[in-house]
Amino acid sequence: MSNKQNSPTSNILGNAESYPVPPFKQQKQPFPGLVSEMSPRPDHGEKSYRGSGKLTGRKALITGGDSGIGQAVAIAYAREGADVAINYLPAEESDAKEVIALIREEGRKAVAIPGDIRDEAFCQKLVKQAASELGGLDILVNNAGRQQFCESIKDLTTEAFDATFKTNVYAMFWITKAALDYLPRGASIINTTSVQAYKPSEILLDYAQTKASIVAFTKSLAKQLGPEGIRVNAVAPGPYWTPLQVCGGQPQEKVEVFGEEAPLARPGQPAEIAPLYVTFASADNSYSSGQVWCSDGGTGTV
Ligand code: NAD
Ligand code: MG
Repeated sequence: MSNKQNSPTSNILGNAESYPVPPFKQQKQPFPGLVSEMSPRPDHGEKSYRGSGKLTGRKALITGGDSGIGQAVAIAYAREGADVAINYLPAEESDAKEVIALIREEGRKAVAIPGDIRDEAFCQKLVKQAASELGGLDILVNNAGRQQFCESIKDLTTEAFDATFKTNVYAMFWITKAALDYLPRGASIINTTSVQAYKPSEILLDYAQTKASIVAFTKSLAKQLGPEGIRVNAVAPGPYWTPLQVCGGQPQEKVEVFGEEAPLARPGQPAEIAPLYVTFASADNSYSSGQVWCSDGGTGTV
């Protein structure tokens, strides 16, 4: 008989032991969606993430830092000792306020910079303000993203296609370019791609293309910036329980069974992916650049 259940490490799963499994209730929200309206509420590590000084004194800008993966990264970075600026859309101010409060609870500097990154001038202003208020910049997390499903290329409008590319591809280019005025040797750029770059769904034609672009951008830029001592990497999430998915990212019938197909049989919670962003940012990991690290619940996409 197995004595696994009696093992002293039987609580090794921590929070994951109780993470929600599908089915979920239908819950359509207007774009860009709010954490506060989600059921169940995602876990960003608010109560669980414990830092160990991996990013002491570092200065990070995180786009989409108000919710989901970006919020979990903001909490983790602050608890690792970094000062953090977050960008988000003005409609997300209530989620952003909660993140800013959590960063300040750690005694770290928190800077809130709302605005639409589809605008190049705003992207330049964003980086300038973040660097000025943080007193420098040495971690850039390009994480904001737009995902709106569309069943057929025939219904995909130029406006929607353009909005997805502006948010996911152009903004990353504009923000990174502006950040190079500040990033010193040892700095780290981390981009959020997706398993969609490798296994695109039929209903995410535009989104999947942008995520493939992010992989190529990451690998190309890593070669360009290596001689400057700046590392460039990407994280590829599988299904994660965030506002993106319930505000048009998936049809509601897919929201109900979200994460079901992963071998772990549930979606990931943002807290479960933040450690990859911490490791990429940390100087301990100083030889990894041009990499894509995936967290997809066991599918093994990348
Ligand atoms: P999220 O909705 O919590 O975060 C996305 C954020 O993007 C929003 O909070 C918003 O602030 C920002 N954003 C969107 N359009 C913007 C604009 N025009 N200007 C400024 N900010 C804008 O969802 P998330 O899932 O945490 O998304 C974070 C990243 O993870 C995205 O790049 C997404 O593509 C990627 N991703 C998510 C999943 C998943 O299953 N949730 C899977 C793979 C990749
Ligand atoms: Mg949000």
